Amino acid sequence: MSTAPMSFNQLSLNPLLLDNLQAMQYSEMTPIQALALPAILAGNDIIAKAKTGSGKTAAFGLGVLNALQGDNYAIQALVICPTRELAEQVANELRRLARLMSNIKILTLCGGSPIAQQSHSLEHGAHIIVGTPGRLVDHLQKQTLKLNQLRFLVLDEADRMLDMGFEEDITRIIAQLPKQRQTLLFSATYLEDIAKISQKIQHNAEFIAVDEVN
Ligand code: ADP
Ligand code: MG
Repeated sequence: MSTAPMSFNQLSLNPLLLDNLQAMQYSEMTPIQALALPAILAGNDIIAKAKTGSGKTAAFGLGVLNALQGDNYAIQALVICPTRELAEQVANELRRLARLMSNIKILTLCGGSPIAQQSHSLEHGAHIIVGTPGRLVDHLQKQTLKLNQLRFLVLDEADRMLDMGFEEDITRIIAQLPKQRQTLLFSATYLEDIAKISQKIQHNAEFIAVDEVN
């Protein structure tokens, strides 16, 4: 069996990301990052299961940021989260990770904020959208959100989103996305409903799990 690399430097990541990780004092990959990042960089769809606090945000965040075309202000990645608080946390971590990359724009689209203001921000373009299902559906209906150049879809805390009854909204969002994309599914648990949604929205997904030792 081969061992997963533990240092970010062992991956072919953009040097600006590597320099920033050093500044952030992320000296080693967490286990889920060591397993998921190489698969993401290889272009695979993945289902990644690991408990809360294991570094899942940087696992998908680095994969997405590494593939972004900074000079193209079309939305290239969409991260769907169950709550506004989680979306804000993810957006903040992505901004920290992207700090040395010039002009990467990350917008949050969540309920509870004025939709008109969000629509105005969207007119100026963004590379990554982090949002909650209901508000994303609203923007798609109003045609203020254009996802025709999307290359990455991330479902973060997928198990919680299904528990909260967001499957229909998620399905409606995905119906608008290019078929040719990379779909990354992150979850703290892996039950039948996750396997079922993976079948619908992913292609040859690789299952990656970090077992809890306790
Ligand atoms: P999860 O989504 O799995 O719950 P997070 O992505 O929120 O976990 O990360 C949990 C914490 O670990 C965050 O404070 C984050 O900054 C930190 N972290 C993530 N990756 C690393 C790393 N490689 N080295 C050190 N800290 C990290
Ligand atoms: Mg998380």
